[in-house]
Amino acid sequence: MAETSPPNHNELRDSFGRSITYLRMSVTDRCDFRCRYCMDETPQFLPRAKVLSLEELALVGRAFVGMGVNKIRLTGGEPLVRRDVLWLVEQLGALDGLKDFAMTTNGSQLTRVAQPLKAAGLQRLNVSLDTLDAANFRDLTRVGVLEKVLAGIDSALAAGFRRIKINAVMMKGFNDHQILPLLAYVLERNMDISFIEEMPLGVVHDHDRKTAFMSSREIREKIAAHYELLATTASTGGPSRYWQIPGHASRIGFISPHSENFCAQCNRVRLTAEGKLLLCLGHEHAIDLRAVTREHPGSVTAIQQAVYAGIHHKPERHEFSHEPEVKVLRYMHHTGG
Ligand code: SAM
Ligand code: SF4
Repeated sequence: MAETSPPNHNELRDSFGRSITYLRMSVTDRCDFRCRYCMDETPQFLPRAKVLSLEELALVGRAFVGMGVNKIRLTGGEPLVRRDVLWLVEQLGALDGLKDFAMTTNGSQLTRVAQPLKAAGLQRLNVSLDTLDAANFRDLTRVGVLEKVLAGIDSALAAGFRRIKINAVMMKGFNDHQILPLLAYVLERNMDISFIEEMPLGVVHDHDRKTAFMSSREIREKIAAHYELLATTASTGGPSRYWQIPGHASRIGFISPHSENFCAQCNRVRLTAEGKLLLCLGHEHAIDLRAVTREHPGSVTAIQQAVYAGIHHKPERHEFSHEPEVKVLRYMHHTGG
């Protein structure tokens, strides 16, 4: 039985006055894909003992909802390759105070689990899809099968997930010819989309992130040549800025960590699969919540105390740049995207 009432209600605020209401939890660093922007060809995965157990993840979720967090997104690695992840979804889905409960997935397992995820209390899905061309998809993910992901999205729609959001990392010379096909795909299905600028997280050897970089402005210009794009004030509490096309319900978002810095509105922290609480995507500052939960098994209060004590280290902003040296050595699948 899930415990639904976390014990504390002091809100979590950093030293720049930002209220922290959004927790992204990575449930695994493993994945069944090997996307070129996310991983090197032979990624190193964590030994299982270093990864938080599902019980520990549920405890951390409770602790954060008790500190006023009202939005949790499960991510990874690929969250749906973690065995028994549905149990965690049920535990978190039952927490009083959680208003927005979402998952980011590559969609490869959705034909099997979309319905059970919905039944377990998951409210929203983001599905990563960078191209609608099967060969291009295989190339970008190194191993993925497009057909399975598209069938997975259909299953999620059939399970009753509404306003599914597609995440597409755009890279020059890789998938920049797919902007309009992806847009047509979401418009037809009343889904939302966020186009994402590639971030320099971790060292990759098979492409130069700098020459492949495509800015949100360039993407918008390509779209604007075919559609009327109207800026909106819509927000889903994340980093996307949204635009709309008259006559369509879809929100067209752009995540632009380089070109349109969004740090001033940052309301989130990230838990890595090994229990490090990262206070900023672009910095290494972290609170070791695995050490806390293993020293105080089952204690929500111990987690909360560690977070209250460490939150003032949250930096004012990230410092991503295209300088040759990569400042952040963590890959996105380690960080939890
Ligand atoms: N496996 C799931 C998926 O692909 O949706 C969840 C984890 S993945 C790390 C989360 C998001 O991060 C995906 O939308 C992915 O496209 C994005 N991502 C991964 N590496 C990135 C990078 N270097 N720059 C920008 N986005 C990245
Ligand atoms: Fe896996 Fe997601 Fe990273 Fe692709 S982006 S390798 S699907 S974790």
